[in-house]
Amino acid sequence: MSDNYEGKAHLTTEESSGSDEATAQGVLVQSPSRGRRVVKAYGAYAADKPLEPIDIQRRLPGPHDVQIDIAYCGVCHSDLHQVRSEWQGTLYPCVPGHEIVGHVTAVGNEVTNFRVGDAVGVGCMVDSCQHCQSCDDGLEQYCDHFTPTYNGPIEESPGHTLGGYSQRIVVDDKFVLRISHPPEQLAAAAPLLCAGITTYSPLRHWKVGPGMKVGIVGIGGLGHMGIKLAHALGARTVAFTTSERKREDARALGADEVIVSRNVEEMDAHAGSFDFILNTVAASHSLDPFISLLKRDGTMTLVGVPEHPHPSPNIAPLIFKRRAIAGSLIGGIAETQEMLDFCAEKGIVADIEMIPIQKIDEAYDRMQKSDVKYRFVIDSASLGA
Ligand code: NAP
Ligand code: ZN
Repeated sequence: MSDNYEGKAHLTTEESSGSDEATAQGVLVQSPSRGRRVVKAYGAYAADKPLEPIDIQRRLPGPHDVQIDIAYCGVCHSDLHQVRSEWQGTLYPCVPGHEIVGHVTAVGNEVTNFRVGDAVGVGCMVDSCQHCQSCDDGLEQYCDHFTPTYNGPIEESPGHTLGGYSQRIVVDDKFVLRISHPPEQLAAAAPLLCAGITTYSPLRHWKVGPGMKVGIVGIGGLGHMGIKLAHALGARTVAFTTSERKREDARALGADEVIVSRNVEEMDAHAGSFDFILNTVAASHSLDPFISLLKRDGTMTLVGVPEHPHPSPNIAPLIFKRRAIAGSLIGGIAETQEMLDFCAEKGIVADIEMIPIQKIDEAYDRMQKSDVKYRFVIDSASLGA
């Protein structure tokens, strides 16, 4: 945790309108005993319970904090994995949400790069140690002590972070991103904060660009962004889906070709031809059919984190063509800003279906069945309904 996190641990639990602390510019004057404010959220108390309304508390902004009133929050499959404890270790109550966009409503007195009214985003991290090699390299997601936006252990009550299915969040300014999309695209920009960066980062790391043949496996929230981004980076982009009904959509998203991965003949026609494959599938499946599609020295990078492990892949096809299987985790803060700016410049946003928070369990059930086009986004105004 960063230095300025200290001192936020022993906060009082008063409810306050806050109007007396804010100046006309919305800059909070520091008071010796910082309080907390109650905001409405949605969360789960157990893995087998539906999400329900829950009042949570947000700290008043410290010197380096940005207070954000959340306008929209994307729904990631990780939210579902986490709420239903598919990865074990979920801390309850669990308030998910790490594709957060909204507007700054107050800043601490040391914050210089954000002002009240700015359109901003928060992704999967709200803190990191700030002094390890990964933090120094701008790869905070690989810091051993980064704090996830939800389910991350912290000292203040209830002992872990609570995410974006809520009206407001207060975040250290180092973990706040600037959104320069036009205001009418704000909701559709929300999924960039996770689905966007999780696909952009590996595409950039493995230097995807013109002259390369790139596969994106699974056309869900991550996969549909992967198609858009690989296409925008200039690669020949091939989408793999298990859903015949997504064939036409994938082309509209930017795929040059679409392969239904259950069709062996279609798969065999591409043997040994891919430079890079990004696999976003959220469920356990055999990796072998995709490995055989890689060229010599090709890499398949996995970003999906299924509840149950994939079966161990066949090793000979890796050895004989020096192929690699890799993994990748979201992206650092600087790269997330780079991705947001790239998307704003190119007019790239997610294809979204807006829902009120009251429909979240229905949305999870549909996501479980791969029935999403292609990201649910919560209209945070519904939290106050
Ligand atoms: P999603 O919207 O549910 O999309 C997943 C897609 O995978 C589905 O739409 C489906 O696409 C395909 N799929 C699902 N079940 C399948 C099965 N049994 N066999 C084959 N394909 C199947 O999920 P998401 O939000 O994109 O997240 C995908 C995964 O990435 C999740 O496990 C999530 O936790 C993980 N994730 C990882 C990171 C990271 O940093 N590494 C970040 C965010 C999310 P088709 O219908 O096209 O087959
Ligand atoms: Zn996510």
